Amino acid sequence: MNGETVISTKGLTKRFGTKTVVDDVDLEVKRGEIVGFLGPNGSGKTTTIRMICGLLRPDAGEGTALGLDIRTQADLIKREVGYMTQRFSFYEDLTIRENLEFVARLYRLPDRRKTVDDTLDRLGLENLDAIESDLSSWGADAEFERVGALAVAVEPHEVEWLHELAAEARARGDESVRLLDQHETRAAVASPTYLGSVWETRTNALVHPGKLASELARIAEELGVEIFEHSPVRRVDTPGSTGAVAVETDQGRVLARHAVLATNVFPALLKRNRLMTVPVYDYVLMTEPLTAEQLASIGWHGRQGISDMANQFHYYRMTRDGRILFGGYDAVYHYGGRVRASYEDRRASFEKLAAHFFTTFPQLEGVRFSHRWAGAIDTSTRFCAFFGTARDDRVAYASGFTGLGVAATRFAGEVMLDLLEHRENERTSLRMVRERPLPFPPEPAASIGINATRWSLDRADHERGRRNLLLKTLDALGLGFDS
Ligand SMILES: Cc1cc2nc3c(=O)[nH]c(=O)nc-3n(C[C@H](O)[C@H](O)[C@H](O)COP(=O)(O)OP(=O)(O)OC[C@H]3O[C@@H](n4cnc5c(N)ncnc54)[C@H](O)[C@@H]3O)c2cc1C
Repeated sequence: MNGETVISTKGLTKRFGTKTVVDDVDLEVKRGEIVGFLGPNGSGKTTTIRMICGLLRPDAGEGTALGLDIRTQADLIKREVGYMTQRFSFYEDLTIRENLEFVARLYRLPDRRKTVDDTLDRLGLENLDAIESDLSSWGADAEFERVGALAVAVEPHEVEWLHELAAEARARGDESVRLLDQHETRAAVASPTYLGSVWETRTNALVHPGKLASELARIAEELGVEIFEHSPVRRVDTPGSTGAVAVETDQGRVLARHAVLATNVFPALLKRNRLMTVPVYDYVLMTEPLTAEQLASIGWHGRQGISDMANQFHYYRMTRDGRILFGGYDAVYHYGGRVRASYEDRRASFEKLAAHFFTTFPQLEGVRFSHRWAGAIDTSTRFCAFFGTARDDRVAYASGFTGLGVAATRFAGEVMLDLLEHRENERTSLRMVRERPLPFPPEPAASIGINATRWSLDRADHERGRRNLLLKTLDALGLGFDS
């Protein structure tokens, strides 16, 4: 409101040693007024402004800014008032981010990155809790087991990363994360390659993916959903006049108020998403069921989901019938970025996995692999999902789960419904929901870039984790593993 007093001082005085730089200043500024201070250097202009903004304590006199006392409520004033210096007073030996973090600490702002991480962690856990309770209340048997995750170090530099992980958990007061030394880790799961581990007791669950898909389909149908299989959608149309979405297949056309596109790694139905993901092939082996003696030789009574800390990591799980699923390491991109069944059979990758399996568990020498398979991972440049709407908010999409979509697709489903209903909440205010990652470049640049990144990650794994210039540049741009 015009006329309201926003700045008021009486007898404002500041001394530096014996020198009085601001002497008995009375000032009153009303809302809407623009006031300029004129005077030679050293006449006390900046010092007066700094006292009014709560940045400097007066030696005498009193004052208010926005109705807040400049002596006793300086912290509150600092939250409301901005102050632009004549010259940028950044520390030149700090980066822009370091300068901002320094100022944020001075102003006791909550650590933004930590707040974001904490929110993501909490939403992730709530999502996993909801999967667990939904499956149980629907009576769905998908072999769901909340076993936690064991991240194991197999190279000395990875032990340092474990300590960092554990320290981060301690800092946020998370007592569900435990740091295990080499002895404790090998006591939990007997592998001579383990140098230590972090056990996240709540963040991970086992699930039988085939049973999960068929149980979800059963429940959806019981709720009245009609499922049409073997009917690829060729086009999504939004004829302006109807306000509807038309989904075109070879056999027919489905009209709806809204459509949700969850086409994963397969060619995107929206042009804007064609370069947003690339298919990267991931390979998996499954052993025959282990005998009681073989099981006893590895321990693993906690049945945790295990993965190692390397950039090119292995992941392995124990099935309900005592088999070990062992996958990862090779992540293969084929020139042209197509999804093809022929890419799934790659003998070199399976042989490498088998060799790594027996290095991990030499006591299982002689165990046979009864199954092998591969699949394409919808990799995005920021290594996690992106979301959005198109066609006047009638169509929502999510993709780019980069190999971790079993739980995350439930979260994405909720985000897509939020977006279609224009709901603003904690989920939709996340940066990962509001911002899309950078697309991949077209070929041949995509192939060159992806293969150079893979080569660099492999080299980092073999050189004590040291990241080369390419990886550091990608990190700085928020692309890839550290984003
Ligand atoms: C080898 C391997 C191991 C993995 N391990 C894990 C793991 O341990 N943990 C984890 O969380 N994730 C893992 N993933 C990733 C996980 O499987 C996926 O992220 C997840 O299945 C994605 O679910 P979705 O519903 O988005 O896609 P999908 O399950 O692929 O479903 C997409 C569906 O859309 C259909 N579709 C696509 N285009 C069209 C069209 N035009 N018309 C009609 N239908 C269409 C497809 O046929 C498909 O049925 C792994 C993936 C692979 C390949």
